[in-house]
Formats: sequence, C-alpha cells, structure tokens
Amino acid sequence: MNVRILGARKMEAQGARHACFLIDDRLAVDAGGLTGALALDEQDRVEGVLITHSHYDHCRDLPTLGLNLRDGGGSAIALGEPAALRVIYSHLLDGRIYSDSTSVREPGGRPPLALRPFAPGETRTVLGYEASGLRVDHPVPTMGYIVSAGGWRVGFSGDTGGALMGFFAHPTPPDVLLVDVSWPDRLRDQAEQARHLTPAMLRQEILAAREAGLAIPRLIAVHRSLRTESELLRELAALQSELQVDLEPGYEDMVIERPARL
Ligand SMILES: [Zn+2]
Ligand SMILES: [Zn+2]
Repeated sequence: MNVRILGARKMEAQGARHACFLIDDRLAVDAGGLTGALALDEQDRVEGVLITHSHYDHCRDLPTLGLNLRDGGGSAIALGEPAALRVIYSHLLDGRIYSDSTSVREPGGRPPLALRPFAPGETRTVLGYEASGLRVDHPVPTMGYIVSAGGWRVGFSGDTGGALMGFFAHPTPPDVLLVDVSWPDRLRDQAEQARHLTPAMLRQEILAAREAGLAIPRLIAVHRSLRTESELLRELAALQSELQVDLEPGYEDMVIERPARL
C-alpha cells in the first residue's frame, strides 16, 4: 500500500492542488485535486473516494470524475457520512450545474458515481482495505479516516481544529497521519474559528498524546494556505526540532510508502 499526495493545499494555483490523496492508484481520500492530477487512464483506475466533508476544496472534482467515467463506461463509489453526501449531491451532482453522475443512462447500467453512506465510528472493508471513520472538529460534519492494508495504517485528519486524540488513541492507530495544518500561529484566532490547526495547536495535541503515553505517528502536514506557507513551514520545522517528532510538510506528487522494516 502506498499513498500519493495529489493535493496538499487548501488553495489551488499552478503546482498546488486542493486536498486529495490516492491509495494504490485506486482509492482516493477526498476529491479536491483528483482529476487535474491524473491522466484519463489513471482516473479509470479510481474505484472509490472516501469523502471527509462537503467543503468545496474536498469534493470539487467529483462531478468531473463522474463525467469522465461516464464517457469511459466506468464507475466508482463515493463514500461519506450521509449529511455530507446530501450537501454534495444537492449542490454539485444533482444535474443542475453539470450532469448528474449518480444517474444511470441505460436501464440496468451502473451510475458513474454511486454514493454510499459511511458513519463516524464505523469500521468496514472498502475495496479490500480496512477503513475506519473518525469524527473530527470542523464547522460542518467532518470525518477523518484510518485506512489499512497488511498491518500498515495511514490516517487522514480531514479538516480539523483538534480531535487528533481520536487517531492517537484509536484501537488501530495510524503509522502515518496526514494532518491539516492550514495557517501559521499568527492566524491562530482565524484557525480556531474556522476549525483548522496551526503549529501551536498541533503541538498541544502532540503533548496531550505524550502525556497519555501514546505514540506519535509520522506526521505529514497538508492543507496549507499558500499565502502564508513560508511562515508556516518555518514554524513546522521549529516544532519538529523542539519535540523531536517525525513531522514534515507534504507536497503534490509525494508518495508515502510503507517502510521496509514493517
Ligand atoms: Zn473544510
Ligand atoms: Zn479544506
């Protein structure tokens, strides 16, 4: 199992895409920067998308993927909590601003995108991977995920202003956690209001986990704002050095692989 980062930012610009991560070329977590990052034949190999929440930077490429799959005769499932799927359907997929990718063109055919509910707290097999949904802390219903195969587990925080203890203390904690660190500490008030992490907020989460005797996974900071990125990267480097944690920024097209020792 490997994870390719397709989108590591909370903004889109040349070379920077919205939140999207691709497991083994076939299961995506979020669809922010999905279709623009993949060739058509790569899109055809996407069988599923785990959606964290309904914000545009996480679901925007679902209509495009749906249309591309329909033209190619393919189909994929999109999973997420019902409240998020309802919003995504009624604002993006219901046929008013683009074609309805959840509809079937011919009787007996498969829809390009089939929406499937996935509840926070639930663990189930998705395309052969064990996937757990975790409630995180954001202004709209939002779920993080832990996805595992062969004993190696990767966590995806989704957008969150906290609640990382749910990952650290999980019965099957992640070996790697891709975590939302959107802004530098100078914008902490804004981050607390919009429910995203800054380095100081991440520091508190790490210290609370250490206090509880829990191991800290490898941390990869994503969902960064481009406007303040250099300031944020300096703060992340200082945090890494202070706490001696395995913490680094994630970038588009970076591939995270299971270490050989596991
Ligand atoms: Zn969000
Ligand atoms: Zn976001």
